[in-house]
Amino acid sequence: MISTKDFSGLKPFEKKVWLSSPTMHGEEQAFVKEAFDTNWVSTVGANIDAVEKELAQYIGCRYAVALSAGTAALHLATKLAGERLYGRAKPDHGTLQGHKVFCCDMTFDASINPVAYEDGEAVFIDTERDTWNMDPEALEKAFALYPDVKLIIIAHLYGTPGKIDEIREIAKRHGALIVEDAAESVGATYKGKETGSFGDYSAISFNGNKIITGSSGGMFLTDSKEDADKVRKWSTQSREAAPWYQHEEIGYNYRMSNIIAGVVRGQIPHLQEHLDQKRAIYERYREGFKDLPVTMNPYEENNAVPNFWLSCLLIDREAMCRQVRGDNKALYISEKGKSCPSEILEAIASFNAEGRPIWKPMHCQPIYRTNAFVTKSGDGRGQSNAYIDEGGPVDVGADIFERGLCLPSDNKMTPQQQDGIIEIVHRCFA
Ligand SMILES: *Cc1c(COP(=O)(O)O)cnc(C)c1O
Repeated sequence: MISTKDFSGLKPFEKKVWLSSPTMHGEEQAFVKEAFDTNWVSTVGANIDAVEKELAQYIGCRYAVALSAGTAALHLATKLAGERLYGRAKPDHGTLQGHKVFCCDMTFDASINPVAYEDGEAVFIDTERDTWNMDPEALEKAFALYPDVKLIIIAHLYGTPGKIDEIREIAKRHGALIVEDAAESVGATYKGKETGSFGDYSAISFNGNKIITGSSGGMFLTDSKEDADKVRKWSTQSREAAPWYQHEEIGYNYRMSNIIAGVVRGQIPHLQEHLDQKRAIYERYREGFKDLPVTMNPYEENNAVPNFWLSCLLIDREAMCRQVRGDNKALYISEKGKSCPSEILEAIASFNAEGRPIWKPMHCQPIYRTNAFVTKSGDGRGQSNAYIDEGGPVDVGADIFERGLCLPSDNKMTPQQQDGIIEIVHRCFA
């Protein structure tokens, strides 16, 4: 597609402006060097001990287990929840076999793939408009449809805490456990408490584009020593205490290396600085877009302080030009005074900057095509954008996906570069 908008006078950025790239400070290298110098380069060492201690303290939970990825942490959290709910599985089965699990619909698929690893079946819960996370009303409807479900996996999208109290109340009433995916929300708080402390089991990520990074890595968080010990054991191939390799359970190679932990350790003192930078970026965008028919990704100002990991934009319905997205391609018709995510993302990319579509909802994904999807009106499968009530399209996730996008949110972006992005977006609506 070709945008017909006028971008004359604007120059491409000399250095690429990223969505969210790693920001190293120097201490990381010192901790990595220490690991080399002392030859603690494997999955044991002072860096691992330090990051587990420091992050447990920061987040406010008793135990942390450092793992190779956020996905690994979510896998073991989900497996553990399954074992607690349904008992130990046979070696060739997942702990969730035959059981449904309520999952966020609009999230990264790493949030919910562990349900499939454990042979469970994800039921997708629609999104609310106040924080773009799991809708408690839809969750309530889902319990009416599937009263036997005992596990809920929540996420805090783009670093914005969801409706935690409402969801915890519903979970409690139905005797369900919560796995909290705080991969995107390290440093975000809800009613003064850190995200990552709200699940029965929680997970965070140090993937390269997250607010602090180890280049990769993740962490499992819990208040239970027994659970932490179990996850540590599973993550190191489930060796039993014996003079040889004795195995009573299936194991995984999921432990964090002491090198990666050195990078994470060097990042922790800079978390607050990153939080401040991300917030400033969000606020500068909000100010810069005041005169456009768009809103920023919302949060509950009275309850929550997001970490502002990614700044996102949602185009008013009336200001959307026509846009059609197939499985692999988007088409749109450029229109005066209107725009759409495809046009804006192409424009941003053509000036050497990186934006991204909103996470495509899971119920729209080919791999999860046959899974159930519950909206607040009580159903939804196959109803994508099909009918509209006074609050707008009933399938909220598909609506936000259609009208929303992630803006370049790199904490090294200069105010001048950000003004350039803001100007490009203005031209898209001219
Ligand atoms: C990044 C991310 C993960 C996975 O973390 P990795 O460390 O990349 O495995 C899981 N869930 C969400 C929502 C994420 O954004």
